[in-house]
Amino acid sequence: MKVPLLDLRAQLATIEDEMVEAVVNVVRSTRYIQGPEVEGLEQEIAEYSGVARGVGVSSGTDALLVSLMSLGIGQGDYVLTTPYSFFATMGVILRVGAKPVFADIDLESYNIDPEKMAEVLAADVDHKIKAIIPVHLYGQCADMKAINKLAEQYNIPVVEDAAQAIGAEYPLVHADGSVEVKKAGALGTCGCFSFFPSKNLGGIGDGGMVVTTDEKFADHLALMRNHGMNPKYYHPSVGGNFRLDPIQATALRVKLPHLNSWHDGRRENADSYAEMFARTSLLDEAKVVLPKRVYQEFEGEIAGRFHIYNQFILRVEKRDELRDFLLAEGVGCEVYYPVPLHKQECLGAYSHGLSYPEAEKAADTTIALPIYAELTAPMQQYVVDKIAEFYSKDC
Ligand SMILES: *Cc1c(COP(=O)(O)O)cnc(C)c1O
Repeated sequence: MKVPLLDLRAQLATIEDEMVEAVVNVVRSTRYIQGPEVEGLEQEIAEYSGVARGVGVSSGTDALLVSLMSLGIGQGDYVLTTPYSFFATMGVILRVGAKPVFADIDLESYNIDPEKMAEVLAADVDHKIKAIIPVHLYGQCADMKAINKLAEQYNIPVVEDAAQAIGAEYPLVHADGSVEVKKAGALGTCGCFSFFPSKNLGGIGDGGMVVTTDEKFADHLALMRNHGMNPKYYHPSVGGNFRLDPIQATALRVKLPHLNSWHDGRRENADSYAEMFARTSLLDEAKVVLPKRVYQEFEGEIAGRFHIYNQFILRVEKRDELRDFLLAEGVGCEVYYPVPLHKQECLGAYSHGLSYPEAEKAADTTIALPIYAELTAPMQQYVVDKIAEFYSKDC
């Protein structure tokens, strides 16, 4: 059997005619820059995420970049973030001329640890940290209540890297004990989405969006994604061309109504994996550690999609050997991310002496399994059987 890590064809089959028609309509409209499809998607994503505004941009990376540019982050500034994420999270910090400062992750959630952030912020006596970028890694929100509390204390904006978490919910517990369900992107100063094809909401090419409840900031973002231009050919600020393509916007509008059911498919598959692994001895022997639903205690009480499983991540023994074995047996899998950000070569001497043991552990021991909604039970059983086979031969 062959089980791919992701099968976009299986998803496309359910919406292909509508998708082709939508794209052809844009071709025939000759509206190729901005226009009604982009505006329509901006409104729909804003509504879906529970925020006032959406600003369509050219990628998730550019969503982060234009956010930092719009906040005026640059030379001499530091930005606090996680050492365990896709490179873009750190790349944008360096590209605006600022420097990343890291706080280690919590290994159970893979997200930045607010206690470690508090230590880093307390040590920043010159107040050089001018922004925080938490990442909602793999589809589960970081501990945003604690992060926002720190951000308020130090008066620093929070740019959510929600590239992997569009639609992921977060249980915000208020002082009176009531729980408000919020969505990724609606928790910080602004939230950044990616429509890279492998994200839960993927386009037919690159795309992204910044969402925010702050109308004035949204206006500034909209200016900055179009060369900082207003009115035409007058430039109060230096922005760039970070516009979203209407062909991407129309394709995403076809997909958005299905997004929650695709999330649910992934969540059901995660439950199935948990049951299948529980029938092996792999969990008891600690060969395999399943992904943790950090906000599980709130499920049922308030039905929340607190994890949308952009990736289904195991921590395993002998990770690299397992990966090679699975690939040889036709099971798609991937290592996200083998090198933590603080160890990336491009940092040069800046990285010397930096050590974040939890992020390093995650980088050394995690592996992603297929989790897309159209995955079947026999395919999942095959994946689990192959993993069990690997460890039975092994010892
Ligand atoms: C995918 C991703 C990005 C970048 O998005 P692109 O659309 O590929 O530019 C940024 N951060 C994280 C965490 C991502 O997973």
